Amino acid sequence: MLAAMSNLLIIEDDELLRDGLSAQLSQLGHTVMAAADGESAQQLLEANRFDGVVLDLGLPRISGMEVLRWIRKRLPALPVLILTARDGIDDRVQGLNAGADDYLTKPFDMAELQARLGALLRRARLPAFGGSLEVASQNTRRLRVDATLPQAWLGDEALELTQREWALLSLLVTHAGRVVSREDVLETWQAEPGDSATGASGVASNALEVYIHRLRRKLVDSGLNIRNVRGLGYMLETTPS
Ligand code: CA
Repeated sequence: MLAAMSNLLIIEDDELLRDGLSAQLSQLGHTVMAAADGESAQQLLEANRFDGVVLDLGLPRISGMEVLRWIRKRLPALPVLILTARDGIDDRVQGLNAGADDYLTKPFDMAELQARLGALLRRARLPAFGGSLEVASQNTRRLRVDATLPQAWLGDEALELTQREWALLSLLVTHAGRVVSREDVLETWQAEPGDSATGASGVASNALEVYIHRLRRKLVDSGLNIRNVRGLGYMLETTPS
């Protein structure tokens, strides 16, 4: 369900490096788009969905740092690898503070870029708590959850979820394509701090049904469905197109 290949955006004004990076990453099977300046990068980011960005901080007009802050505001979970000049220690620190996920100092080895970028993309897909995850679907309003915030989005729109809805959704997302049992959900809810009112006996199964129903409504237009697997539990799956 989770795509292995990624949609990448390279933002680099050096034509040679830009083309080289595009070619290398395309060869690995990624879908690559490239921008020579911040403005066209912003246009591409608004029109497309990317899994990761390689961003040169030394850009003309709109600086790389500005582009980074812009990305962090709009696409908080999008992995960004920054490229900095050899002596740009301030840039590196500033970049990481501004929310870059990793950095490489120019000139860098292509193999190292591939390794760092690969690690970044894998981390971004980690289903465990503390990571962020996107559920692939045919729909442009893809579901994305970030357990560190915690927050979920449909496309660019943040989802408003209660604590229980969030617990239920993250459980379904981390097990996307597999069945989550009612017991699993009830257990997760009981483990939620601040939900002690639940009591030792837990939430009745029909209460769970209500939450599933609410969550389904919030996922309308996401290309995802919460299927009721009779006698077993629930499964998050892509809606057949
Ligand atoms: Ca540059």
